[in-house]
Amino acid sequence: MPEFETAAIIGAGVAGLACAQDLRAAGVDVVVYEKSRGPGGRTATRREGSLRFDHGAQHLDPGALDGTRAAATVAAWRPRRTGDLRATAPLGDVPVPTMSAAARALADGVTVTARTLVQPLRALADGGALLATADGPLPPADRVVVAVPAPQAAVLLQHISPPLAAAAFAVPYDPCWTAMVAWDRALNLPVDVHDAPGDDLVWAAAQAPRPGREPGERWVLQASAAWSAEHLEDAPESAALALLDRFAGTVAAAVDLPQPALLTAHRWRYAEPSAPLPERCLTAGPLAVAGDWLGGGRVAGAIASGRAAAAALLS
Ligand SMILES: Cc1cc2nc3c(=O)[nH]c(=O)nc-3n(C[C@H](O)[C@H](O)[C@H](O)COP(=O)(O)OP(=O)(O)OC[C@H]3O[C@@H](n4cnc5c(N)ncnc54)[C@H](O)[C@@H]3O)c2cc1C
Repeated sequence: MPEFETAAIIGAGVAGLACAQDLRAAGVDVVVYEKSRGPGGRTATRREGSLRFDHGAQHLDPGALDGTRAAATVAAWRPRRTGDLRATAPLGDVPVPTMSAAARALADGVTVTARTLVQPLRALADGGALLATADGPLPPADRVVVAVPAPQAAVLLQHISPPLAAAAFAVPYDPCWTAMVAWDRALNLPVDVHDAPGDDLVWAAAQAPRPGREPGERWVLQASAAWSAEHLEDAPESAALALLDRFAGTVAAAVDLPQPALLTAHRWRYAEPSAPLPERCLTAGPLAVAGDWLGGGRVAGAIASGRAAAAALLS
């Protein structure tokens, strides 16, 4: 049996949920606090009416979910992509039927308290951590895991552990403007994926050809880190139009692009760490810190980091 009974995890992305899964399996009573409406974080699916878009993480590295409850959700994805039209090797795995299915599987059986924005942690006289929202304190926990992007972790940790906060503060993140666009008729484009490092439109992916998705001409368009940083404070409408314009000049250059039925954009202010730390997780007293900025980045790194944090607390 572990030396502690309760744990609170801040952040219901894959890092926090993977940590929760392993702590629960060891008999710990775990609560995950999440500021948004549900679990998933950047492994996200946006609903626009009846249309669904995987607008965060696009595909998983091989084995990213191995050893977790979400492993059974994945299917290989073999798109027709720019410069690689005859490729038969999968580009990666994707959870089915949506990207957020992986997080939902990880969250199965875990208590996730959504719409709960945790405030910066404070030290208690007994060495523990005081958890609170703007409305007041949350139930005490023997251990606290911070599983959010580094810039947000730095804020949560600034009072309770300046060294952990400094480590988090030093990890920069790239932004990513993402447009979601749908047409009410097929465009019959030559590719499902535009994968163009160096282009302002660094990535575009048709949604319907992804495994298990519903039909319909829907695309996710993602801007490069440099373009996103330059246009960080643009209005969403303006970012969406700029990405659609670039799409029209590249992927859809051979067709007369009709007016879309839907065009919207989401700004990921903290999309991916540009330089993750080599440590899998950080610990100090009752605290552990996890996330994609530890453990190598991406979904695979985030899960490895969450599991390493659980193992460190249990050891
Ligand atoms: C556009 C884009 C494309 C990507 N493409 C890929 C890809 O193709 N392949 C890949 O492997 N990875 C990709 N990634 C990266 C991948 O999505 C992340 O590395 C991974 O999902 C990070 O998981 P995490 O649990 O560390 O953090 P997150 O998913 O960010 O989870 C942290 C959670 O904490 C919550 N939170 C933050 N602060 C608080 C607070 N104070 N109180 C309560 N809750 C809080 C947030 O709402 C969030 O849900 C992409 C990311 C983006 C944005």
